[in-house]
Amino acid sequence: MENKTANYCIACTVTQCRHHVKTANYCALDKVLIGTHEENPTASECVDCESFAADKSSVQGSL
Ligand code: SF4
Repeated sequence: MENKTANYCIACTVTQCRHHVKTANYCALDKVLIGTHEENPTASECVDCESFAADKSSVQGSL
């Protein structure tokens, strides 16, 4: 598994993301893009990290 350097400015708990450092709750990217899938976001659930990329090693049930 490749070692990634944590960006301590971007805390993240989404370990299923390819950019997550895995060894701690941080992202390895220099910057991320945050966006929304709602027309009028009103809660944190409305907001997404658009830099997310599925980590193939943590995708369940796909062969
Ligand atoms: S790209 Fe977004 S979801 Fe993925 S580790 Fe970084 S902050 Fe988390």
